[in-house]
Amino acid sequence: MSDYAVRAIGCGGKVRLFACRTTGIVEQLHQRHGTSATVSAALGRTVSVAAMMGLMNKGQDKLTIQIHGDGPAGKIIVDADACGNIRGYVTNPQVDFPTNDAGKLDVRRALGTSGMIYVTKDLGLKEPYCGSSEIVSGEIGEDFTYYFTQSEQTPSAVGVGVIVERDLSIKGSGGFIVQLLPNTDAEIIDELEESLRQFGPVSQKIADGYTPEQMLQALVKDVQFLETKELCFSCTCNHERIKSVISQLGLAEIQSMLEKDGKAEVTCNFCNEKYEISGEELATICRELGEDR
Ligand code: ZN
Repeated sequence: MSDYAVRAIGCGGKVRLFACRTTGIVEQLHQRHGTSATVSAALGRTVSVAAMMGLMNKGQDKLTIQIHGDGPAGKIIVDADACGNIRGYVTNPQVDFPTNDAGKLDVRRALGTSGMIYVTKDLGLKEPYCGSSEIVSGEIGEDFTYYFTQSEQTPSAVGVGVIVERDLSIKGSGGFIVQLLPNTDAEIIDELEESLRQFGPVSQKIADGYTPEQMLQALVKDVQFLETKELCFSCTCNHERIKSVISQLGLAEIQSMLEKDGKAEVTCNFCNEKYEISGEELATICRELGEDR
């Protein structure tokens, strides 16, 4: 079954709803980066948030989520574009821990419990939108609940989860976001809080095979679906782009690469694809840089 995200409204149009399945993307990321079970969960939860945020702003070109925690996994970076293309990586993909006391993957221990979340959105304006908030739990769902309320002034509930099999393949990944529109009645807020409590951990619903639509219907009354968008793993790197990245290193650096190795080998952080730039190509870049001086 392929990955997708849905956008909906509920409670008579009083709440905005998002839900997604990202199992295939997280499996791809696991295979490309060799992520441990704990890191697959951390990265997968972030991928689900990015996928749903990609549906929030009309005409949005691209968004990047960066989570800079103080834990051993390092930074988590996820990119999503308006067409549902998603890519991402973690600084230290192999960091792993035993499950926590609740029997869950210990995302908090890998990510850390202090640090910052940064969100950059390219909305096609002159300056990109930048939002940020502190990490409050290290479990990602709670951190983005805090982010939306603090940074975007939108009271929200975020639930994201990933189920990893014993062989480290991804059994399921997905989640939901519920957002209150301004002036929502206290009655509806109470109702939502109660249904979120009864809903329980999102990972259990994923394990039980709930689709994104079924998750929202279990959470909120009177759901009307507005949009479905397919999601897939995709990276924007190619040989030409890698060459342009190299040319930004500057003439001296490229000349020393040329003398030392006679070529350049570059691995894309996002997809782990390896690129070899030949000596001839390096020499051409040097010539072009020399001419620009
Ligand atoms: Zn790439």
